[in-house]
Amino acid sequence: MIGRRRLPEERPGVAPVGYKVAALLVSVDGDRAGFAGVSIGRTQAYDVEAEARCAYGRRHRAPAPRCDCGFYCLASEAEARGLMCVTEYRHAALLRVDVLGSYIRYERGFRYSRQRVTGVWVGACRCGNPAELLVDAGTGVVGRRGLVGSCTGCAVGRVGLSFGSYARLARVPVVAEASPYVRGEDELVPQLVAEVTLLQARLDRCQEQLGRLLGTDPG
Ligand SMILES: [Zn+2]
Ligand SMILES: [Zn+2]
Repeated sequence: MIGRRRLPEERPGVAPVGYKVAALLVSVDGDRAGFAGVSIGRTQAYDVEAEARCAYGRRHRAPAPRCDCGFYCLASEAEARGLMCVTEYRHAALLRVDVLGSYIRYERGFRYSRQRVTGVWVGACRCGNPAELLVDAGTGVVGRRGLVGSCTGCAVGRVGLSFGSYARLARVPVVAEASPYVRGEDELVPQLVAEVTLLQARLDRCQEQLGRLLGTDPG
């Protein structure tokens, strides 16, 4: 065929590692963890170990050079973390995957045939606090409900799954994505001093009002 270039072949000893943004799912009877894409693949659920099929139903193995089907991931963890700041992905999860089977490299990552999820970072709660458990997201696909991270404060009165339970179903570690807002110890001390000062001022005002009520001078 004129103009058709053969892609260079690689046979790495260790599977390449990639990162991707995904939605977390749990099966209808709660015994299986799953994932779904957040853009074109949002209706396609996949398991911890999964094989890509052509999204257009064509009879070739994904990824085919002249089709855009297959799993996608970024090679850079930092770049995938950067994606987690985008409005639509703020509350999604970040997955680390082993890129298995055949793959096609592109400038920022891989398009490939098989993957194994090896780590999950749960995005922030809707209030901005780091997630502490997973609650029903109110979304889903056939046979699987969507989960989203929540802090314990926002989860009051809601049913949820602990990270540990989800990790047991998925057989991969599940942790909260680090928050840029969590205070370090050095910032906590001035914060406490400010709070004590505020309390002292309130106490002084109370004493003043009490003194006025009793007809005595607080001094
Ligand atoms: Zn295809
Ligand atoms: Zn919250």
